[in-house]
Amino acid sequence: MSTRPLSCATFVAGEFRTGGAVLERHNPATGELVATAPVADAGTVEEAVRAATEAFGSWSRTSGFERGRLLRELGRVALTRLEDLATAMTLEQGKPLDEARGEVRKFAQAMRYYGEEAERVEGRTVPNESDDFLSVVVHEPVGPVAAITPWNYPVELVGWKLGGALGAGCTIVVKPSEYTPGPAHLLAECVQEAGFPPGVVNVVHGDGEVGAALAGHPDVAKVAFTGSATTGAALFRTVHGVTPLTMELGGSCPMIVSRHADLDLAVAGAARRSFRNAGQICIAINRIYVEEPVYEEFLAGLAAATTALRVGDGYADPTVDVGPVTMAEIRDRTHRHVADALDRGGVLVAGEAEADTGGLFVTPAVVAGAPASSLLMSEETFGPAVGVAPFTSMDEAVKHANAVPGGLAAYLFTERLAETVDVARSLDFGNVGVNTVDAGIINAPYGGRRESGFGLEHGPEGLHGYLQLKHVRVRHRH
Ligand code: ADP
Repeated sequence: MSTRPLSCATFVAGEFRTGGAVLERHNPATGELVATAPVADAGTVEEAVRAATEAFGSWSRTSGFERGRLLRELGRVALTRLEDLATAMTLEQGKPLDEARGEVRKFAQAMRYYGEEAERVEGRTVPNESDDFLSVVVHEPVGPVAAITPWNYPVELVGWKLGGALGAGCTIVVKPSEYTPGPAHLLAECVQEAGFPPGVVNVVHGDGEVGAALAGHPDVAKVAFTGSATTGAALFRTVHGVTPLTMELGGSCPMIVSRHADLDLAVAGAARRSFRNAGQICIAINRIYVEEPVYEEFLAGLAAATTALRVGDGYADPTVDVGPVTMAEIRDRTHRHVADALDRGGVLVAGEAEADTGGLFVTPAVVAGAPASSLLMSEETFGPAVGVAPFTSMDEAVKHANAVPGGLAAYLFTERLAETVDVARSLDFGNVGVNTVDAGIINAPYGGRRESGFGLEHGPEGLHGYLQLKHVRVRHRH
């Protein structure tokens, strides 16, 4: 087991090092110091990019089979460090330990998946008018990648970028969130143990300033970002020249409950996807539209399911449902969104209006009947609160669902096939879950539309985003 506070290090060219300014992370449940990490200065960022650039030459020519073997080995090693990784997540981010353990297993699954996909990077041949020519289209890795990741899924969100990039033959410099340095540091230890060549994976710690220095480095060939819309917009101006970007920026996700829904299933799904990880999920449900005839029954069910959720320190009790929120900003925004919804005529059916205990534990809240213009029904709360409103026609529900700037995930509960097909087609979102709130699987593309960003993770697409095409036209007879 790792000691506490966890002393994280910069990982550059296969070596760990400390020194210089230090950032501290305190447990959101207890306030206790749980991790320290060196803040990368300009020279360290430079060295990390140089290490990734130098390693790219041989890594990009290493066969997909060998790259795949190392990725699968990384997944295996991470499972041997499951308790360490999960503990670091719970102590730094707040999600209950059981949830954190699940995240490590999903990381290992992603490494297996991308390890296998690395063997399947295939090109194609293209017909020419003359038989004297052969046209071959091949995929080549784009180059060293900068991965800038947030704190809500500190292991998985590094894993998706790392698996896709390394599987494609790119090298990577990861800049994890300053709120969760520990999980990224432990992953770097796993990378070292798995036997990756030095420089293929590098980790630098620090805040947005370090992220900006990395993203703006001229030798970075692609920036892969998950985080807030504000930072995403800033990154457009930060990157050097025309460096390609992919962005997953979250958004306000709707759920539609038809009068033809299995209501028990819908209630369980709503409670899970609104409040898991204390609502701090890009694809968390923010607004629920329920068809009039089943509105009251659904609302009563969701209020009961929400009140039954156990809130607490998920390290002391790994089985609690909801841990603390990760930072005061989230608690304050959640309270602001709930207060605004109540001011505008919404009714609190679960949770407490003044739930501020002074700490970071926020009682999950359900507000009924808040207007579409309220913050809760129009913006991403990214905390444990959800709004519920009735509707009378499915067209109206779809219109409400689509009436936000972003389009990451939407959910529909119905037992009617025709409704499933019509509504799934009309929802302007990159991911639609029908009768399920687990919208993503590792082998299908995951990404947003409009202001939720662009580019895909998961699926073959999550690897192809790190590849570029080359057409080789050969005149073989002349
Ligand atoms: P979130 O609150 O979802 O974590 P942020 O966008 O604040 O969203 O942070 C996501 C990641 O982006 C973190 O690693 C953070 O340090 C980094 N970051 C924040 N600001 C910038 C910036 N201006 N340029 C590059 N990276 C940044």
